[in-house]
Amino acid sequence: TNDFLAEWDRDNFFHPSTHLAQHARGETPTKVIKTASGVYIEDRDGNRLLDAFAGLYCVNAGYGRKEITDAIAQQAGELAYYHSYVGHGTEASITLAKMILDRAPANMSKVYFGLGGSDANETNVKLIWYYNNILGRPTKKKIISRWRGYHGSGLVTGSLTGLELFHKKFDLPVEQVIHTEAPYYFRRENLDQSESEFVAHCVAELESLIEREGADNIAAFIGEPVLGTGGIVPPPEGYWAAIQAVLKKHDILLIADEVVTGFGRLGTMFGSEHYGFEADIITIAKGLTSAYAPLSGSIVSDKVWKVLEQGTDENGPIGHGWTYSAHPICAAAGVANLKLIDDLNLIANAGSVGAYLNQSMKSALADHPQVGDIRGEGMLCAVEFVKDRDSRTFYDAADKIGPQVSAALLSQDKVIARAMPQGDIIGFAPPFCLSEQEADKVVAATVRAVKTVLG
Ligand code: PLP
Repeated sequence: TNDFLAEWDRDNFFHPSTHLAQHARGETPTKVIKTASGVYIEDRDGNRLLDAFAGLYCVNAGYGRKEITDAIAQQAGELAYYHSYVGHGTEASITLAKMILDRAPANMSKVYFGLGGSDANETNVKLIWYYNNILGRPTKKKIISRWRGYHGSGLVTGSLTGLELFHKKFDLPVEQVIHTEAPYYFRRENLDQSESEFVAHCVAELESLIEREGADNIAAFIGEPVLGTGGIVPPPEGYWAAIQAVLKKHDILLIADEVVTGFGRLGTMFGSEHYGFEADIITIAKGLTSAYAPLSGSIVSDKVWKVLEQGTDENGPIGHGWTYSAHPICAAAGVANLKLIDDLNLIANAGSVGAYLNQSMKSALADHPQVGDIRGEGMLCAVEFVKDRDSRTFYDAADKIGPQVSAALLSQDKVIARAMPQGDIIGFAPPFCLSEQEADKVVAATVRAVKTVLG
């Protein structure tokens, strides 16, 4: 029964990103999800919920896709596992690597497979350190990340993540990770700044960080094309071109963390293409398999690859590998998923229905006095609440406006939106197959929830 499951859950299961003490005391309900189809998930009590966050912005193709589940079943029956060390591969993993490179920007050369976004970024940092050691630059090791960036929750990746919650009580960030300003125009300190002045300010902050630390000590800069977990924040116009120019000048590599934006969420295959910048390494995960199986990747450019190759000639095999790298079941899910996304033209749908969702959200809520900002790009949208719009005064954390609005969306209209972890922001990142009618439902539910909580 549900009661038994809830008890077993509290007694045995230690959940991620959860208030551990509250959950163990039974103060946060156990939610048992049983099945799903399209943009809807269903719990064990038969409640059907519209998942406007695609799980954790990952079920891009939508739930219940037989093309993907059949491919997984077939692969499991044929060959559930073999490793990928020392040149071993499977039909699925080799095919998927080719499909990824066919879709990746032209300067990309090879892909290394991992399991999730955190381990892929961990791989990226190791590859970059290896790269600089081969080039005889042993001090060039620090990685610049942005405050509010999200890059995972391991030791180095939790350090790269620019959210305080991921640092405090863990003795992070590690000393090789340093942070710079987030390109968050709505939260700029100087309200008189225009968007282009704010970009110039972000660039100046980066330049002064590089000067302080010394370019000889800085290996790379990592950023999500659109800040995700930090608040769903598209960059101001001209941001990426200006940042890329600074990095090039100082010979600092650029890692585009496309775990959320890769494979179509912005309406283009990659977010770096969307904003017209060229990465040296691209991180992929979530949308690679639409989360039907855990799989990630580090796509490295020709420039990086040529050096990595040289290094192994001198030193023997690269000392980096995971047992489950290129797991055949996950790779089969990836092949079927990328094919399905092409066949159903889902990236174009993410672009057009995403624009419709953003526009409808603006039309419905822009005049509300406690709505400070509505922003998004492609199938990403966020609404940020403020106590007072004219003075842009934010609520106190204890007011929990974001969590209250997302709770009202769920209880009143059975729509799942995410209360983003920092600030009063609710985020939407639906599956790419969302229809305009479903987008209307999400917007109407949001209007009702905002009215319930804020009047
Ligand atoms: N990078 C980005 C941009 C992410 O949004 C996430 C997760 O949300 C990660 C990395 C970490 O991925 P994972 O949770 O699969 O380790």
